[in-house]
Amino acid sequence: MAHGGVGPAGRLAEGHRVTTTVAADGDEKAARTGAGGLPARAKVAVAAGKVTGAVSRAAGRGSGAVIGGRVALRLDPELLGRLTTGRACVLVSATNGKTTTTRLAAEALRAIGPVASNALGANMPAGITAAMAQDRDARFAVIEVDEKYLPTVAEQTRPKAIALLNLSRDQLDRAAETRMLAQRWRDGLAGTAATLVANADDPLVVWAAGLAQHVVWVAAGQSWQEDAWSCPQCGGVLHRPDEDWGCASCDFRRPEPAWALEGDALRDPQGGRVELTGLRLPGRANRANATTAAAVASLFGVDAQVAVKRMEQVTAVAGRYDTVRYRGRALRLLLAKNPAGWLETFDLVSGTDHPVLLSVNALSADGTDTSWLWDVDYTRLRGRPVLVIGQRRLDLAVRLQVAGVDFTVYDDVDAAVDAAPPAQIVEVIANYTAFQQLRQRVGA
Ligand SMILES: [Zn+2]
Repeated sequence: MAHGGVGPAGRLAEGHRVTTTVAADGDEKAARTGAGGLPARAKVAVAAGKVTGAVSRAAGRGSGAVIGGRVALRLDPELLGRLTTGRACVLVSATNGKTTTTRLAAEALRAIGPVASNALGANMPAGITAAMAQDRDARFAVIEVDEKYLPTVAEQTRPKAIALLNLSRDQLDRAAETRMLAQRWRDGLAGTAATLVANADDPLVVWAAGLAQHVVWVAAGQSWQEDAWSCPQCGGVLHRPDEDWGCASCDFRRPEPAWALEGDALRDPQGGRVELTGLRLPGRANRANATTAAAVASLFGVDAQVAVKRMEQVTAVAGRYDTVRYRGRALRLLLAKNPAGWLETFDLVSGTDHPVLLSVNALSADGTDTSWLWDVDYTRLRGRPVLVIGQRRLDLAVRLQVAGVDFTVYDDVDAAVDAAPPAQIVEVIANYTAFQQLRQRVGA
């Protein structure tokens, strides 16, 4: 396996090499396109994309970024590569936490210069292209990438670093099976010149990063383990004593991490600790995201202390973790799209006795199959007030009943919020489209 043999110090040395290659590679890429400017075809594509985006916005069809990006890519299929030429790019991909980690890493890198980013989470090639066309001058780009597109986007943008956080089941009726996704990453990233910053605690991520030349391992934890009980290398059983894991039948095991989340602090490769208690984003999952973001930023020479200070300024990410006043209550908005995400969210609210308002939809952006509800351990909500809304509230009600959770079903958010005790925070947990609808409704 490629992950053996190099300790924390070696990883850091690798990081410094990356820093020194940024400028040189940028020059080489600039030479390809001629003085850093775009060829005529690409300029037309960018302009057409902007016009289309503006028309789409005027027609009230959202930000217009995705449709604009689509038109631009049709005119110049290599546009994304051209728009990232000469910049130092970072890609971030995962099942969960990629929007937040992208935001945190971008914030950390702003310590050393302007950063372009697809901050609103349009993470497929069209949305990424639109974001890069929008901000042509930033030296750095931190890009959230949908799991399925990671190898393609990596090929086009030639990133300096790629952060891989986790892989678990998500939208069963749409996405390729988790295992196949890991294989696709592994094949697609085998020859990459990028340094991978990868989660040592997720066996599928370790497998996916296994053929890459440069990997910085981060002990970021894994609370959802149901997709990683068998060895991706040989099919044997993975043993998981405490923090460690390894295959009983072959040499596949947890690599030695250079960075680690340890309680409320991160540990850097020199053994230095940086407290994460000042982060405004709550929960263990966000401390893990911050640890990964700090490891990414350090590849560009940003000190972990400086990176964390900057990350402390982030309070909400595309509405997530936002607390809003609505009908006399304070609602904290939490997004949970799949079983691993629900588990992280339960961890987040477990320290409180706040009422919990759950909303589940099954529109096409959510995946229309709600059988994933049965993968989530809803017993964690026993003993607190639970309010249920959403298009699939009856599916959820059946699930909660089986889990022995007391709950009340409401027709809409207003009725549910009115039923919650005033002057208390209500924890609102919703899946993707349910979350967007709620945000709109409560003005977040
Ligand atoms: Zn094995």
